[in-house]
Amino acid sequence: MARYTDSVCRQCRREGAKLFLKGDRCYSEKCAMTLRHTPPGMHGQGRRKQSEYGIQLREKQKVRRAYGIMEGQFHQYYVTASNMKGVTGENMLQLLERRLDNVCYRLNFGESRPMARQMVTHGHILVNGKKVDIASYELKVGDVISVKEKSRQIPLFATLREQGAKRTVPEWLELDAENLSGKVVALPKREDIDLTIEEHLIVEFYSR
Ligand code: SF4
Repeated sequence: MARYTDSVCRQCRREGAKLFLKGDRCYSEKCAMTLRHTPPGMHGQGRRKQSEYGIQLREKQKVRRAYGIMEGQFHQYYVTASNMKGVTGENMLQLLERRLDNVCYRLNFGESRPMARQMVTHGHILVNGKKVDIASYELKVGDVISVKEKSRQIPLFATLREQGAKRTVPEWLELDAENLSGKVVALPKREDIDLTIEEHLIVEFYSR
């Protein structure tokens, strides 16, 4: 599958928002968004006012890049969300939050979503006791996510066990840092999502 291979910090600068793709560095003064706010490229500083379409496109790209999803799959989330009851934008964010790689990130199993995705695809993660290596696997209430016994010596997991979570775990999840496991105790609500997102712009983009 095609993957983005350029500097991930360029993606934040392009979207004009922190996407938290590099773990601890994102919270430090070394973050490229702290050093430079302008979009990448030689014409970055001279960009003109955006059209309505441009604003919608940028919002869609920002969320897609934050969750590390390619266009086809991201559009599929929109289609699924629009066929669900409720508000399409909120449904879409809920589906994104329930991805296994995102839940591992939220549980501090990975310092960033890309790292959490790697944990999953490399087979370190179990769901209800069975190995699941599909990053997009959709979790439901009651599912238990844990780290495979053999993988517990990986420094990141050892630190998590010793020091607990570095970031706060959202209310819809429960973390047992000692046993390197977590549980989905509720579905994520809109207010649980900490990225600044105007999801209605994404819905408007796709419904044009
Ligand atoms: Fe780079 Fe993280 Fe800062 Fe984004 S938030 S620019 S990924 S260090």
